[in-house]
Amino acid sequence: PNTLPKPDRRRVLTVANQKGGVGKTTSAVNLAAALAVHGLKTLVIDLDPQGNASTALNVDHRSGTPSVYEVLLGDVSLADATAVSEQSPNLFCVPATIDLAGAEIELVEMSSRESRLKEALSAEAINEIGVDYVFIDCPPSLGLLTVNAMVAAREVLIPIQCEYYALEGLGQLLSNIDLVQKHLNPSLSVSTILLTMYDGRTKLADQVTAEVRGHFGDVVLKTVIPRNVKVSEAPSYGQTVLAYDPGSRGAMSYIDAAKEIAERGSTNGSRSGTL
Ligand code: ADP
Ligand code: MG
Repeated sequence: PNTLPKPDRRRVLTVANQKGGVGKTTSAVNLAAALAVHGLKTLVIDLDPQGNASTALNVDHRSGTPSVYEVLLGDVSLADATAVSEQSPNLFCVPATIDLAGAEIELVEMSSRESRLKEALSAEAINEIGVDYVFIDCPPSLGLLTVNAMVAAREVLIPIQCEYYALEGLGQLLSNIDLVQKHLNPSLSVSTILLTMYDGRTKLADQVTAEVRGHFGDVVLKTVIPRNVKVSEAPSYGQTVLAYDPGSRGAMSYIDAAKEIAERGSTNGSRSGTL
């Protein structure tokens, strides 16, 4: 496979949308896998207690495994919680165990509760693992875990499902991003919006696509991820769709999306927005 440009500095993208089922986890693991295929070392941090990203990357995430939970507590370094995926030597994962389910509440009592992930994800820590890209897979809420992800990143990637009510809740997400940007992380912006689960047979999908592009312009990737059964089957085999069926439309669309993200860099189109 041909290689994609290495970023000048490592890029950290938080994949967020407080709606469940919009394609956060699917996009985080498949974009990471696509970059890895093209020679870029990529880390997925699973920040959802459900551990779906860990499952998709087939990384051990039984309770007691060094995970993002211990990293947030400050008990384990990021590097020590990082596992190499079996799919590619370029693809790494910090898993989430069920222990993370209590973290949202435990964090409330802790010092610097919003910036614990940022502290763990220092430049030195990322250098130690040696990755070019980090994707943080957020849970479906705007709680402290998602705030930690937004404080630790410069970029937010918002997956939007091409369906009715697609824009519902987006205003709240954007105003939370603005709050974090103002008070906790001035470098934060929405760099990327990815349309997911596009069904070309419906008129609605085109309406949603047009509406999202109208609101967000260039921030929206040209590549749209189609609804594709291979994408939904892959996780049950502990694989990304790139490993499960590299020739599928789902796999090829994630390759294209990753290429766009890599080629346009972190600044192009970058802006935060309101709705
Ligand atoms: P989230 O992390 O936002 O909750 P997921 O990535 O887990 O969302 O996706 C929700 C469900 O939709 C999963 O079962 C996933 O396999 C499925 N899915 C995601 N993207 C696609 C797609 N492009 N085609 C078909 N199914 C998809
Ligand atoms: Mg998820």
